[in-house]
Amino acid sequence: MNAYLKKRKEPKFEDFKAYVNYIKEFCVVNFDENDWMKSTCTCRDFQKSYICSHTIAVAINNRKHKPSDAAKTDADGDDFVPRRPGRPKKAKGALLID
Ligand SMILES: [Zn+2]
Repeated sequence: MNAYLKKRKEPKFEDFKAYVNYIKEFCVVNFDENDWMKSTCTCRDFQKSYICSHTIAVAINNRKHKPSDAAKTDADGDDFVPRRPGRPKKAKGALLID
């Protein structure tokens, strides 16, 4: 752990590509306790759309935001609503009109 912290405090880069990989490795969330929507993150997604999964995850962890039931999934990543047993129905033709 100490070697890891030392590497983080005194980074050394062989080339620019190593530096870019170092930057992409971590994202730092600056969490706003009063309004989690004003939290910032250093990741690429946040720089593009001003919200990312990291800020949302920190907000949920700090109980500042409650996800909707539709967004919840079970341990396997399936839908929260249990699926009916059996094979899923085949998709119907998109351009058929009754
Ligand atoms: Zn982020």
